[in-house]
Amino acid sequence: MAPVIDITEARSYVLARCAVLAPRDVPCRAATGMVLAAPVHAEEDVPPFANSAVDGYAVVAASVAQAPVELPVVGEVAAGGHTDRVLRHGEAIRIMTGAPVPAGVDAVVMVEDTERLEGGRRVRIMRSIDAGVAVRAAGDDVHAGTLLYPAGTLVTPAVAAVLASVNAHTVSVVPRVRVAVLSTGDELVDDGSPLQPGQIRESNRTMLVGLVEGAGCEAVDYGIVRDDEASLEAVLRSAAAECDAIVTSGGVSMGDYDVVKAVLSQIADMSWMQISIKPAKPFAFGLLAASDGRQVPVFGLPGNPVSSLVSFELLARPGLRTMAGLRQPGRPTVEAVADDGLARRPDGKVHFMRVFAEFGPDGRVHVRSVGAQGSHQLAATSLANAIAEVPDGDGVAPGGSVHTLLLWVA
Ligand code: AMP
Ligand code: MG
Repeated sequence: MAPVIDITEARSYVLARCAVLAPRDVPCRAATGMVLAAPVHAEEDVPPFANSAVDGYAVVAASVAQAPVELPVVGEVAAGGHTDRVLRHGEAIRIMTGAPVPAGVDAVVMVEDTERLEGGRRVRIMRSIDAGVAVRAAGDDVHAGTLLYPAGTLVTPAVAAVLASVNAHTVSVVPRVRVAVLSTGDELVDDGSPLQPGQIRESNRTMLVGLVEGAGCEAVDYGIVRDDEASLEAVLRSAAAECDAIVTSGGVSMGDYDVVKAVLSQIADMSWMQISIKPAKPFAFGLLAASDGRQVPVFGLPGNPVSSLVSFELLARPGLRTMAGLRQPGRPTVEAVADDGLARRPDGKVHFMRVFAEFGPDGRVHVRSVGAQGSHQLAATSLANAIAEVPDGDGVAPGGSVHTLLLWVA
């Protein structure tokens, strides 16, 4: 039997074997959520030309120093238009936000500080203005030729927009990780039919598909695979051929029908772990060689639904996000206050208790147990938004501090 290892060792083992996927060029509009695989330099200035920050009148600032003054309006320019008229001292040009600033202009007076005269042929400027006001210089946001983003940058929607603004048609990114998800077990039913003796409704796949997608990956659902070695081997081989990683549920414990263990032991380079945590003590990780030579990471999660969730969070999710090129693959953690305490007994394991976390008026995160902590009791766990890491011992006293993984915080 495999020696019992701690969670830190298990995670290091997994992360060391989750290689970042080979980069691919994608249109910048499709890159949101992915990590840049190469630095991006700006090829264009943003804004590309000096333009007006307001709707108003383009002037020479010195000519309105004695405001209020009246000026002739010698032209008009809107966003998308331009004028060749060179503005002279003592003249104004009507200008809209985003329109190119005509030659000779050094400031724009906002329309709120003006009065239109003679049907727009003249304007009264009510206030003086400093040179440069409301003129956005070319390259004010981005200078052509500068390093915009280093490799490793996560493309957020705003980053994607900046890439669009400098006309970066395509960017080199770590592609979205395609993850095969499958459940194993002869007892599982997912077609709504009445339960026969010994059967249960399949639920882990629904959860794992959502967790995989929530981790920014693409989930490919391979359904339920029966506890039969030949069919499991066939599914695993096609999953390896079609996907970058495989997440299985069930069949990694010590039972006689734990076929995931039987099959993967033969076809993949696996490590069968016993981790000193509760829940989710059994966990399997390994690499399955695809027919094209790629080493496809396989995360063998236990079948008990709460164990499946916890081992996904602690091991599979960081592994998948490492493959996606993220430098911080884990969830954020915080030292939270356990208001009511988190009781437990010493058993040589770290307990990952499901809790609800909220900010308190003191600005700290406070957690309380969501109730039933059995590894089959997903209903209580489903209301948790955080996982408290309670070290071996007698638990956390009321008001004590506990290291907590935040899944989401309201
Ligand atoms: P196993 O890890 O296969 O030994 O399964 C452990 C427990 O989890 C058993 O009670 C199974 O019936 C249950 N289980 C396994 N897979 C699933 C699943 N996909 N959905 C719900 N329960 C499951
Ligand atoms: Mg099973």
